[in-house]
Amino acid sequence: MRAAIATAAAAATLALAAPAHAAPPVPAPGADGVGDPLYPTLGNGGYDVRHYDLSFDFTPVTYDFGATMRIRARATQDLSSFNLDVDSLAIDRITVNGAPATWATAPGKTGQELTVTPARPLRDHHSFDVEVTYHGNGKTKPVGLPGWRHMSDGGFASAAQASRADTFAPVNDHPSDKATWTFHLTAPKGWTPAANGNLTGRRKVPGAKETWDFALKSPMAPELLGISVNKQTYVYGRGPHGVRLRHLVPEDQVAKYRPVVEETGGQLAWLEKTLGVRYPFDTYGVQIVRDGYGDALENQTLSLFGPGWFESPTYSTTMVHELTHQWFGDSVTPATWQDAWLNEGPAVFYAAVWAEQQGFEPVEGKMKAAYDELDAVRKAEGPPGKPTGLGGFNIYDGAAVSLYALRQQIGQGEFDAVMKAWLTGHRHGNASTVDFIDNAVRVTGDASVGTFLRHWLFDLDNPPMPGHPDWGGVHS
Ligand SMILES: [Zn+2]
Repeated sequence: MRAAIATAAAAATLALAAPAHAAPPVPAPGADGVGDPLYPTLGNGGYDVRHYDLSFDFTPVTYDFGATMRIRARATQDLSSFNLDVDSLAIDRITVNGAPATWATAPGKTGQELTVTPARPLRDHHSFDVEVTYHGNGKTKPVGLPGWRHMSDGGFASAAQASRADTFAPVNDHPSDKATWTFHLTAPKGWTPAANGNLTGRRKVPGAKETWDFALKSPMAPELLGISVNKQTYVYGRGPHGVRLRHLVPEDQVAKYRPVVEETGGQLAWLEKTLGVRYPFDTYGVQIVRDGYGDALENQTLSLFGPGWFESPTYSTTMVHELTHQWFGDSVTPATWQDAWLNEGPAVFYAAVWAEQQGFEPVEGKMKAAYDELDAVRKAEGPPGKPTGLGGFNIYDGAAVSLYALRQQIGQGEFDAVMKAWLTGHRHGNASTVDFIDNAVRVTGDASVGTFLRHWLFDLDNPPMPGHPDWGGVHS
């Protein structure tokens, strides 16, 4: 669901559409971006997606697919047309409220803009239904970065962060527009589909195929899309208080990975105790792919891992990192990509606490090293709260050391209360850096905590570290 992001373009359109004498508003095109400070053209304006229903029929090895995306949305202005984000999808047919619509694609910054013109304009505050039928091939080189990960068995997995969900389906590809999802993944018999949420059904369809249905009841940003079809096997379990666990491992490596994925229940219980907040969804799982992907990604309710992590004796630190994201990033989602430290900072920080408790590495040593590196990174790539791009040290370890500084400043008890209030106050919503600072001030009742955090998050020099005067830093 959409957080309120005012965009200059949308405001200007509304001003034009609503003159002072209050004539009926003239429908106008929705903006081609939400005005993200880092990536202004990501997502689209003029509507709020409530539900995505994706039917996706995938042929392994050839990578051909045919699909239908059904979107229920609500207009946030009178719309003559609106955009969806796509990349290298061949559009066959679009209807809006059941009537054929016209469409055009144009190059975008990261993919393509699909502009849909309904037969009749859409009214502000009204819900509308869009159905896009399309096809494509998962090996087509996208305009932007890749979202498809190809496995040597002929299958695939989606790794869509930060804006690559549009290589699989037409979406409003910005984290501020979260929606519930259902999936109907069709594959030949003998292949195993997976998606975010719970498996709700499985049925035979013509052509020796099966369709697997999944439902995700909690809202999800498109970047956390986790669909796959592989030669893979489900491994089931139970987490604390009945959380359903369903993991996926390559079908010929169950014996190797079963003990690994079965560590998840203990990690979940540890994080719930550490955060003082229950796991935010009703299901979780770890998906380990055979190859084709080397990273780790917090796809909602189904984190994705390349196999290389599990060659390291400290692999559980990465598992805890992605699990932490289910709270920080997936349930509480940043309002804009400039706020991405709110995802990565806690994920690195709590994984460091885990690593210390496992005897891998002391938190203080890791934070000292991060502190030393962060000072130059602030100047080159921006401070944690105002990075010039995504994926840098500033929003990962740099943000974690800022949280460590907060803990040093206000003490463990107050720190825990701040983080708990953050997670419960913004559960399943969107929130910004300013919201985080306001939350910390409110919980501690201390305005100086706001000043402290602003220095840590926005300054181009490291502030001094409380409790470690020998670390250096600049008083400002
Ligand atoms: Zn992360």
